[in-house]
Amino acid sequence: METQILSRSRGWLDLAKKYIKDGEVVAFHTETVYGLGANAFSDDAVLKIFELKGRPQDNPLIVHVHKDYDISLLIDSEPFYAAALRKAFLPGPLTMVYPSTGRVSKYVSCGLDTLAIRMPSSPTAQEFLKAVDLPIAAPSANLSKHVSPVTARHVYEDFNGKIPLILDGGACRGGIESTVLDCTGEIPQILREGLVTREMIASVAGDCGIYHAKQGEKPKSPGMAYKHYSPRCKTAFFRENQTEEAVALYHEAETAGEKPCFLCERDVCALLPNFRTLDLGGSGEEMARKLYALLRKGEKTATLLIGIEPREKGGVMAGVLNRMHRAFGVEHGPEES
Ligand code: AMP
Ligand code: MG
Repeated sequence: METQILSRSRGWLDLAKKYIKDGEVVAFHTETVYGLGANAFSDDAVLKIFELKGRPQDNPLIVHVHKDYDISLLIDSEPFYAAALRKAFLPGPLTMVYPSTGRVSKYVSCGLDTLAIRMPSSPTAQEFLKAVDLPIAAPSANLSKHVSPVTARHVYEDFNGKIPLILDGGACRGGIESTVLDCTGEIPQILREGLVTREMIASVAGDCGIYHAKQGEKPKSPGMAYKHYSPRCKTAFFRENQTEEAVALYHEAETAGEKPCFLCERDVCALLPNFRTLDLGGSGEEMARKLYALLRKGEKTATLLIGIEPREKGGVMAGVLNRMHRAFGVEHGPEES
């Protein structure tokens, strides 16, 4: 199969619509990362996503809808705070988890009794979703365990010849996946941190928890239990106060014939002028936007990628740190136990 990458042009949405109606899988730009979408009502189309990605069948998918979609077609009711959060943050990088009503393919929720719904703000995503006027089940458009894609080229690298179409909306401005929020309880609870932060949610809902899976319990968001986002090269990771150890490893690796490279925040890059570095930037938003592109660049240009943890921790950095820890395979915190 030939994989076409199309930017906004005459007929591009007609083509996307045709593929979706035929049960095919189409990749599309969103403001977070690129998605790999299929008709959420079709068992066969949804199963194709799992097959293409090599995704485990217990890791559920998020259903994407356009901004005028009537979500009462998918859910029966929502708590008061959820309506307020939708008003405040949608369309945008916030996924809301509701009790499932069983109206989309059962393969979307993978045996959970909940359904995750998201309304992306990217104009490309909105136009695509509006054109098909169907809920679109979509995970990130990367092979399972690989780094999430933030350009059409990244999607192409993982799925060339396997999907018919990529809707190119340019580089993703958000850069990390949406915040996943459990809206089934009395107060909202974050299942996955992202660009809509705990503070932002609490300012609208009055309160916001962060979910910690207990040992032996079935996780509420199975995807969070997997190692993720891994660059395809050797990696090492150091905390912010371990720069000396990181430099020692760099020298050692170089002596052993490796091509090491640091991935770190801008201020730390500035302290390492004679080393290969990938600059994550300064603010949390900038680091979120650059992280996946730099992980993909790192795996192509280095044989050993040495991550150094940024010093800032709050707000958007919670999501960035979560993704960095997963990429480098280090412990992140209680919610992953
Ligand atoms: P991705 O596949 O990268 O788009 O990530 C989707 C994330 O949303 C994964 O971590 C899933 O486990 C999570 N998710 C999808 N549906 C649900 C749901 N119904 N309840 C909780 N988490 C969900
Ligand atoms: Mg993913």
